[in-house]
Amino acid sequence: MKELLTGNEAVARGAYEAGVVYASAYPGTPSTEIMETIATYKGDIIAEWAPNEKVALESAIGASIAGARTLASMKHVGLNVAADPLFTFAYTGVNGGMVIISADDPGVHSSQNEQDNRNYAKFAKIPMLEPSDSQEAKDMVRYALEISEKYDTPVLMRMTTRVCHSKSLVELAERNNVPKKPYVKNLQKYDAVPAVAKILREKIEERLKKLEDFSNETELNFIEMNDSKIGVIASGVAYQYAKEVFKDGASYLKIGFSYPLPMKKIKEFASKVETLYVIEELDPFMEEQIKAAGIKCIGKEKIPAMGELNPDIIAKNLLGKENRVIEYDRSIVAKRPPVLCAGCPHRGFFYDLTKRKDIVITSDIGCYGLSSQPPLNAKDTSICMGAGFSMAHGAQKVFNKFNEKMKTVAVLGDSTFFHSGITSLLNAVYNKSNAVFCILDNRITGMTGHQENPGTGFTLQGDPTVITDIEKVVRALGVENVRTVNPLEISEMKDAMDWALSNEELTVIITKWPCVLKKLSQKDKDDFGDYKGLCYVDDNKCIGCKICIKTGCPALKYDKKLNKVSIDKTQCVGCKLCVQVCPKKAISKVGE
Ligand code: SF4
Ligand code: SF4
Repeated sequence: MKELLTGNEAVARGAYEAGVVYASAYPGTPSTEIMETIATYKGDIIAEWAPNEKVALESAIGASIAGARTLASMKHVGLNVAADPLFTFAYTGVNGGMVIISADDPGVHSSQNEQDNRNYAKFAKIPMLEPSDSQEAKDMVRYALEISEKYDTPVLMRMTTRVCHSKSLVELAERNNVPKKPYVKNLQKYDAVPAVAKILREKIEERLKKLEDFSNETELNFIEMNDSKIGVIASGVAYQYAKEVFKDGASYLKIGFSYPLPMKKIKEFASKVETLYVIEELDPFMEEQIKAAGIKCIGKEKIPAMGELNPDIIAKNLLGKENRVIEYDRSIVAKRPPVLCAGCPHRGFFYDLTKRKDIVITSDIGCYGLSSQPPLNAKDTSICMGAGFSMAHGAQKVFNKFNEKMKTVAVLGDSTFFHSGITSLLNAVYNKSNAVFCILDNRITGMTGHQENPGTGFTLQGDPTVITDIEKVVRALGVENVRTVNPLEISEMKDAMDWALSNEELTVIITKWPCVLKKLSQKDKDDFGDYKGLCYVDDNKCIGCKICIKTGCPALKYDKKLNKVSIDKTQCVGCKLCVQVCPKKAISKVGE
């Protein structure tokens, strides 16, 4: 039976069919749907959200050593977080097979950077697979687990945005209930103390040689001979793009197993074609190795090393063919950067911050990162998850040393707090920081699409669980100055921030209100009530002062001709933030 699946859904199906028993991840575009789909195989696979990628990988390592086939998935930057266990697990090897999915984001569609995680395979000395469509994504999970068990190594599988989110037909199969391997205590394998690690280090080199032999033999790397004038070596989605451009007018060496590279097969292919192109998305990962082996080829001289690749770029750069595109006047297109939603509880918090002087706002990665957009402009930095808190601490220390009257205000969300904010906060407590740390708890992992987290009361597979109380955690870490406030109550927010900024010690403000888009649980309804509704503007009272517009709520519209503000009924949720800021009491909630 065939089904139309995205690459992410296909990976999940592959895990199911290949007998994966345990899977863990932290959500992040473009990888999120892998674990959301695996979660639907409840009963066969234990699927979990971990608080961060390092924990996800470490949990999967435990499951592998216990003897089960396992999977860990993450977006590209997540592998940076998980790199520590990865590099040592590459030494110890597996018991049950392990595949690690890295979903890279060429073109930086929804990330803070662009990185080519194929480099991690080479760096960690582990094998790597690169699917180019959904069928391959599914099949390669099985291959990866078999390679993992045969060569005693974790295997990296690199997806990219286009493979993750495009749909293609996939042939489905039954689940292969692979028996769990027995757990065997083996300190010479799993206890990576220096004496053991030295021996394992040598074994890795032997393993890489065997893997290169495998790479030359495996059907994952295959040659399609057509016209011999042009030869193309390509991997991942770049292979699909190359085929779209050259069709039968070129021969191909399709690389599915891309580390270690099949150098014998590459030499053989290169000897049969006149001009050899290496087409790959982002870094010259294959090209550099091919050139280092003395094989003449053309790669990044013609194919860009940054941004998302597509067939038009290949056709233009290699064949000089330009596809006709519809031209339009870009200057008249309104720029619509993403903004905080109408009714977003973070708006009240940031609205207060816009009024403050002499503060540096170190943000983290999440919806609240959108606070840099006008009219709020309430953000100074954004580096990676957890960094907002740590950076605030470092900056505050420097401001203090030089007697500058500057205060740092760090901002992160509930999920980010669990991800890596806890350790950053602990560092600040330990090192006697006096910055202001703010945790914007909107009761869900917002930006990645509403995944559960340790604070929400539910597991990924829908089971009720313990709700971790953020305020209690903060106090337990040693913070004495803590306040939890409703960010939509402007006076409450202002009081808390006045208090925090005047405090000489580390202070934590927790804003607690559910994301406006959240499907409320019974507990949410009990805690926050049913506040939703609609607000309207009384034209007779509105003087067009635009103070309400400064909240940045996209439901508010100012009409220049009338010099009045109105509220878009389809967007407003009646959070009443604008009601509180209007000096003329021109805004009211329907029914109040
Ligand atoms: S704040 Fe009130 S008076 Fe001023 S523009 Fe908005 S609705 Fe009109
Ligand atoms: S009440 Fe005001 S601030 Fe809240 S969503 Fe409606 S228009 Fe926006």
